[in-house]
Amino acid sequence: MKKAIITGITGQDGAYLAQLLIQKGYKVIGLSRQNDLQSAYRLVYLGIDQQVEVTQVDLTNPRAVMDCLEAYHPDEIYNLAAQSSVGQSFKFPQETFSFNTLSVMNLLEGIRQFDKNIRFYQASSSEMFGSVSLKNLPIRESLLFHPVSPYGISKASAHWLTVNYREAYGLFTACGILFNHESSLRGENFVVKKIINTAIRIKNGEVKELNVGNLAISRDWGYAPKYVEAMWLMLQQNIPADYVICSGQVTSLLELINQVFNKLDLDLRSYVRLDPQLLRSLDLAIIYGDNSKAKQELGWEYEMDISYLISRLIQDEEDLIKWKTSKI
Ligand code: NDP
Repeated sequence: MKKAIITGITGQDGAYLAQLLIQKGYKVIGLSRQNDLQSAYRLVYLGIDQQVEVTQVDLTNPRAVMDCLEAYHPDEIYNLAAQSSVGQSFKFPQETFSFNTLSVMNLLEGIRQFDKNIRFYQASSSEMFGSVSLKNLPIRESLLFHPVSPYGISKASAHWLTVNYREAYGLFTACGILFNHESSLRGENFVVKKIINTAIRIKNGEVKELNVGNLAISRDWGYAPKYVEAMWLMLQQNIPADYVICSGQVTSLLELINQVFNKLDLDLRSYVRLDPQLLRSLDLAIIYGDNSKAKQELGWEYEMDISYLISRLIQDEEDLIKWKTSKI
């Protein structure tokens, strides 16, 4: 039985990846900062909370990381823990940068000292590319980084640490450069989750409006449960490498909101309000990727178009709301 450690198991991707690895017969150990595990509701929702062992580890403490490696001796580590919000990173730049880089350094150094055969996945991000000129779209793995947020900068640093341990010490490390991926289990403060949840509550008569920031941005949105499959595939290759994981399609936020409201039979103009406080000091205008390397080398499949994705997210959100209501 293979053993995998997932850091950030209480988050969106951690929960879906844990579910996938359990289906594949892994023993899964999840690391969390918390000890009350209130936030482990995602594992409960997916029905896997009794099948994973969740333990509290401070990833900023090198001794704690080493103790954890010695205690569990995993075959694979999926490093998903991070302060993952671009918006929050402008409010808390020190915490974002220090946690998102130091945790990665401690894990890599722990692997190097304890057992170089442990395979390591790093959750890199499309935000590392930052402002991209139109001639460089769609984004491929080879494009130079120019991050424009503390989050993007922290992820770029962590990315290069991971590449460095591969090149300097021969560790099996792979970075998944993931574009935005969504699900009902996404954090409440992320825009797509907020739009869909609020639109459903407007439909149910619970709230009256949706406040939004910059509607002109265009993004490459995908479905989180499909994206975690690529993480696992990256650690099953003969040669480690870094891969862009994205849908390859681009949609503006305005178009996305339009489709959500149309699918729920709501008139957008009656409910959507622009809130200047939600505008960022610096925002990417348009960003989308090219997933052909992942498709060719990993055999990763992604076929969902944006309309299907939105319908699926609405359905999943309605199911989650029903589940939460049944628990009250
Ligand atoms: P989430 O925010 O849902 O989960 C991240 C987890 O990291 C949290 O559950 C939290 O768990 C843990 N964490 C550890 N330290 C901190 C900290 N200082 N602040 C906040 N959380 C912390 O992220 P996702 O599951 O969506 O993403 C997984 C990884 O993939 C992250 O590294 C993210 O940056 C990256 N990524 C995500 C994308 C997306 O579209 N979702 C796109 C590209 C990259 P706990 O509190 O239990 O420790």
